[in-house]
Amino acid sequence: MRYYSTNKKSPSATLQEAVTKGLAPDRGLYMPERIGRMPDVFFNDMQDMSFQEISFEVAKSFFGDDIDDGALKEMVYDTLAFDCPIVEVGGGIWSLELFHGPTLAFKDVGARFMARMLSRFTGEGKVNVLVATSGDTGSAVANGFLGVENVNVYVLYPKNKVSRIQESQFATLGRNITAVEVDGTFDDCQALVKDAFADGELNRRMTLTSANSINVARLLPQAFYYFHAYAQMKRRGMADNIVICVPSGNFGNLTAGLFAQRMGLPVKRFIAANNANDVFLEYLNTGKYSPRPSIQTIANAMDVGAPSNFARILELYQYDHDRITTDISGASYTDVQIKEAIAECYKQHKYILDPHGACAWRALRENLHDGETGIFLETAHPAKFKETVESVINTSVEIPQRLAAFMEGKKQSTPMTNKFDDFKQFLIRSNQPR
Ligand SMILES: *Cc1c(COP(=O)(O)O)cnc(C)c1O
Repeated sequence: MRYYSTNKKSPSATLQEAVTKGLAPDRGLYMPERIGRMPDVFFNDMQDMSFQEISFEVAKSFFGDDIDDGALKEMVYDTLAFDCPIVEVGGGIWSLELFHGPTLAFKDVGARFMARMLSRFTGEGKVNVLVATSGDTGSAVANGFLGVENVNVYVLYPKNKVSRIQESQFATLGRNITAVEVDGTFDDCQALVKDAFADGELNRRMTLTSANSINVARLLPQAFYYFHAYAQMKRRGMADNIVICVPSGNFGNLTAGLFAQRMGLPVKRFIAANNANDVFLEYLNTGKYSPRPSIQTIANAMDVGAPSNFARILELYQYDHDRITTDISGASYTDVQIKEAIAECYKQHKYILDPHGACAWRALRENLHDGETGIFLETAHPAKFKETVESVINTSVEIPQRLAAFMEGKKQSTPMTNKFDDFKQFLIRSNQPR
């Protein structure tokens, strides 16, 4: 399968090129040339299939031309070493819990899959993944790539500006993961990474790549759990009139759901739930897209003012605003409303939401019609936002064992200034053959 750029000013790419480059040379996002419909027999049989079996069939539809079945199956089965169960919350609403992976957030699925695909495509040569993080992305990428052969990961993060829980998830790992603690801001971290990608000498000496969420190898596997969710509802005889609500920031997760629908998954409609960063809702309401700087909220993984996957959604619908608003509606909530949702859901159903899932639960509560069944994507475990959640429900949130284990690990970060030359010399030194 070939991948074309949403800007249409670069030649199309192979899967290998799209995955190793990430962004197209014209700065567009790669899109698969075809989105194949899954066969009827798949939909008939899926309720008796495991998460891994379902995902392998979906993966073949995306990647089957480019990767042989044996290798692809291994990638899928390795990635999905944990489940994404559907849990009934109450009032016709179900939670698709995507936080059972190593870093307790849905990004584990895409990051683990991408790590395995990148390792395959780089073969014998070493590749260096650079990632700047303000918290969550760094942990998912670091854990996704931990122990993966031929890949070194450098996680750059701002000193004293990420929570101790977050830092422990990428700075205690060691092995092929190097945490770089930058004396500066998140923007400084991002600038160091950008300068490294643009530096001729560094690129001659070593292979550098990014692992950000625009990569097709992170995006497409996120379709797996939409099919799995549907299969679980089918098993319960609840698969009619399904509405799926996705807490959204860069809109990768929602885009993967729209791909699943295009592959034949019978979802009636989608709702995109936002925090106060509501440029997408504004687009749905007015047809005008006005990206702007993000606002800080308590659902901070959705603090995005210019969602990167917007270009993919436009492309998927051939820029047809009417068709987009037929399939997708939106909602946006302030921090106060997010806290109200956490409190109300706990009071009524004893289900503890995280601030991101809370936006989505509230959007379903307010927008579900008679006869519809709502599923929201619970994108993170509430313990990752322990203080916020506990202050609202007045009950302590238990920290899962695997999160507690990170916090017991020893921090092993490399201190770094925010000057590019220092970072460059460090990269060169650490890539010297021993
Ligand atoms: C990244 C993230 C989101 C937003 O996902 P997008 O694919 O960027 O829309 C939502 N919730 C949590 C917990 C996240 O980490």
